[in-house]
Amino acid sequence: MSESIQVTDERRRELRERYLLERDKRLRADGNDQYIEPTGRFEGITDDPYTPVVEREAVHDDVTVAIIGAGFAGLVTGAALEKAGVKNVRLLDAAGDVGGVWYWNRYPGAMCDTAAMIYLPLLEETGTVPSAKYVPAHEIFAHAQRIAITFGLYENALLSTSATEVSWDADIQRWRITTDRGDNFTAKYVATGTGPLHRPKLPGIDGIDTFAGHAFHTSRWDYDYCGGGPADVPMDKLGDRRVAIIGTGATAVQCIPKLGRDAGELFVFQRTPSSIDIRNNHPIDPEWFASLGPGWQREWLRNFTLLQTGGYADVDLVMDGWTDIAQRVRDRVAARVMAGAELSPETTLAAYEESDDEKMEEIRARVDAIVTDPTTAEALKPWYRQLCKRPCFHDEYLQTYNRPTVTLVDTDGQGVDRIDATGVWANGQHYEVDCIIFASGFEVGTDLSRRSGFQIIGTSGSSLEEYWAPGMRTLHGTHVDGFPNLFVLATAQAANLISNVPHNYVEASDAIAAVVAHAEEIGAATVEAGRSDVDAWLQQIQGRQGSVIGSPDCTPGYYNNEGKPLEGDQQLNGGAYIEGPVAYFEFLEQWWKSGEFAGLHFS
Ligand code: NDP
Repeated sequence: MSESIQVTDERRRELRERYLLERDKRLRADGNDQYIEPTGRFEGITDDPYTPVVEREAVHDDVTVAIIGAGFAGLVTGAALEKAGVKNVRLLDAAGDVGGVWYWNRYPGAMCDTAAMIYLPLLEETGTVPSAKYVPAHEIFAHAQRIAITFGLYENALLSTSATEVSWDADIQRWRITTDRGDNFTAKYVATGTGPLHRPKLPGIDGIDTFAGHAFHTSRWDYDYCGGGPADVPMDKLGDRRVAIIGTGATAVQCIPKLGRDAGELFVFQRTPSSIDIRNNHPIDPEWFASLGPGWQREWLRNFTLLQTGGYADVDLVMDGWTDIAQRVRDRVAARVMAGAELSPETTLAAYEESDDEKMEEIRARVDAIVTDPTTAEALKPWYRQLCKRPCFHDEYLQTYNRPTVTLVDTDGQGVDRIDATGVWANGQHYEVDCIIFASGFEVGTDLSRRSGFQIIGTSGSSLEEYWAPGMRTLHGTHVDGFPNLFVLATAQAANLISNVPHNYVEASDAIAAVVAHAEEIGAATVEAGRSDVDAWLQQIQGRQGSVIGSPDCTPGYYNNEGKPLEGDQQLNGGAYIEGPVAYFEFLEQWWKSGEFAGLHFS
């Protein structure tokens, strides 16, 4: 970890003022609406560039469980069902293979910021040894494929296939699923694992449609145009090209070092800098790995979650940037309480702010230590709390700005002015480029059906989207009243552990498999959460607004709905179990292991 910096009270006051100033600069009346769906010139930008669609007969059959989405949520659920003895499970995905975001995101340098030992699910079950502490995207994609092979999930899968509607057929007590490939099949149960960040969005910049050069989104990387390949094969066609990249979020931070290395010239258009902490990657020693005893991965998962959410453990197994900040906060809270302060949200917040100031000063000092041009270094410093935006960890990103062929075009929070046929305008200056890469992220917080591409119609004939319009309503983030035999695989209204998203799915999938196995065992046709049970669950959820992540004090971004606080019950849309992820996982395990499944009604 980086060296600790002491922050004086005066400096703290300066930081508070500067953070608010930088936030205010970026607040926009249009919020989420500043982004546009890829249409017109960008119509095909979300098509699958990696797998040709193979003609096949339409499917008209019945399965036990249809899982929509074949990313880690779908895969671990499929695996858990298989382990529980449930047969006839079907994965369905628009992508040409399993893997979800790790199928789509093949941009150069793509890797996961969360340690592979905990991020990659089912390592023990698949006999997998990660190559390094943090592994590249192509290794994660290969792991997803390995899960599908190990648990026989390919056989019944429908890939390159998008669901168009999922509706409850009361006569046969089955879900009916239609797709864009003409399929029309039924399933006793449906699980949706469509992911929080998969629908690419574009910035609604004036003139974006008029650009006459080449353009693509980072999640559909165009290796035909760039040359090279995802396993760090240099992009040999970029050597004489002028490339623009718009956006400096977690994706851009990973691909900019590769673009900086390979492009003739690179222009990085920045609206808000990311915080870049140390990466410190290292290979995993297979001998050490082999010495881990059975059940090690669950122990690592729980250890990380415990430390990352302020708990105490004898040892920090993962030791990374996530556990570092959390332990600093925890130790400060303890010191304050020892000095007589009450253990309260205010004490925790004050301790958090102190630790965060220290961490962010270190991050800003790191920029000065690495970036040689002082103006560029100043522009790369983030002025917000670390958890306001996705924290980034990289050991080559900042160094890239020392290359003579790389130009940072900082827009002081305002973004690109406009785009024309030949390039990009920013700060009143025109930059002529051959190619624009949009590292502009994914839709979050827009309508559910717009993101997933299909409606789910429940017993009342209304869609889930309509039902949730006033605010999301679930039991455990998974079960919805009025939508029998449906399991939502997401993070909200449950642990909402964003530092290690697959962990949420691993725990949820065990519970879902137990529910399905129980329903099958007792011969139940349906299983559904009661309305009052959902109401009672919602009492145990804390809205995002109350937490450090998603705070309206933060500089705008998808974590805080672009700076627009959610209202009423919608505050619970990104909410979490009030006692935190560790308590939630323990609660859930006891809940399904008890075999009583309180809150669910089998009939
Ligand atoms: P983000 O939404 O985080 O970033 C979008 C970027 O585009 C921001 O820098 C944004 O600026 C910028 N932008 C938007 N409009 C304009 C404009 N008009 N002019 C200039 N810049 C603009 O998307 P990412 O794809 O980077 O990341 C999405 C998420 O994916 C991450 O938060 C993370 O959860 C996940 N991810 C995880 C990785 C991992 O290691 N596990 C790696 C990569 C991604 P501004 O900040 O000002 O809004």
